[in-house]
Amino acid sequence: MLIDCHCDALYKMWSNGASFRNDPYLAVNYERWMQSNVKVQCFAIFVPSEVPQQEKFRVALEMAQLFYEEILKPHSNIRQIVTKTDILDLKENERGAMLTLEGLDCIGEDITKLKKLVSIGVRMVGLSWNYRNKVVDGILEPENRGLSRFGHSVVSYLNEQSIWVDLSHISLKGFDDVINQAIYPIASHSNVYPITPHTRNLRKYQIDQIIKKNGLIGVTYVTDFLTLKDYATLEDLIEHIRYLIEYGAENHIVLGSDFDGTDYLIREVPTIDKVSLVVNELERNFNKEIVDKICFENFLRTFPS
Ligand SMILES: [Zn+2]
Repeated sequence: MLIDCHCDALYKMWSNGASFRNDPYLAVNYERWMQSNVKVQCFAIFVPSEVPQQEKFRVALEMAQLFYEEILKPHSNIRQIVTKTDILDLKENERGAMLTLEGLDCIGEDITKLKKLVSIGVRMVGLSWNYRNKVVDGILEPENRGLSRFGHSVVSYLNEQSIWVDLSHISLKGFDDVINQAIYPIASHSNVYPITPHTRNLRKYQIDQIIKKNGLIGVTYVTDFLTLKDYATLEDLIEHIRYLIEYGAENHIVLGSDFDGTDYLIREVPTIDKVSLVVNELERNFNKEIVDKICFENFLRTFPS
């Protein structure tokens, strides 16, 4: 079994009208997914910054609708994942799809909009993308603001509802505020800053905090987060994972590909049907117990309930 914590296929389906069934433009489409060993795939709603504020929530709902109408409805072997039991109950031929949200710009300062998204199955919420919103700053905001008062109430609500709070893309100050408050922290697609000093990667003290809070780190296949070279290989991914294991994070590593979030991914793994190469490489480097933890056990153990 393999669980992947982040992809942006919904964004590409929304922005380009790409068909989920078999459009080759999608790294995650139905046909490629079925050829892979990915049992559960998370699908992020991501509303781009250029959408006018008053239209953002409508766009978020449009993406949720694509999730239902293009991913779930036509494919009887794809089940929506809302609880841990939903994953455990998947039959041999079935796959799971979980709805997530990347950035809370779309709710403005209106928590009822977040409640609506949770009610339709969003189970992981990234508080900001790279920039500022009413909740918190993103990592590219030079002022580096932490959680607003509204942001604190958002995290309380997510705790109450047993929802993962996603720390990828958040400002450094925001990270500190959230890690103190969130019960279910995850950085769904971020790598190790001491290996590749990209601003989206996790600093050592952040890795410490995630371990301390029993959170998760989704190692990602994005070139810039893996290496300073102009291309990334499976060995680069293993280097980040090995660092985390040696640092004591073996119970906190999961996978967060970022398929369809960028065109620049591990050279050998541009699309979901190639993910078995990641598993092979993990098996060549680590024992079965560790590989299983990374591929699915850590995710299942920490699934909020
Ligand atoms: Zn992202």
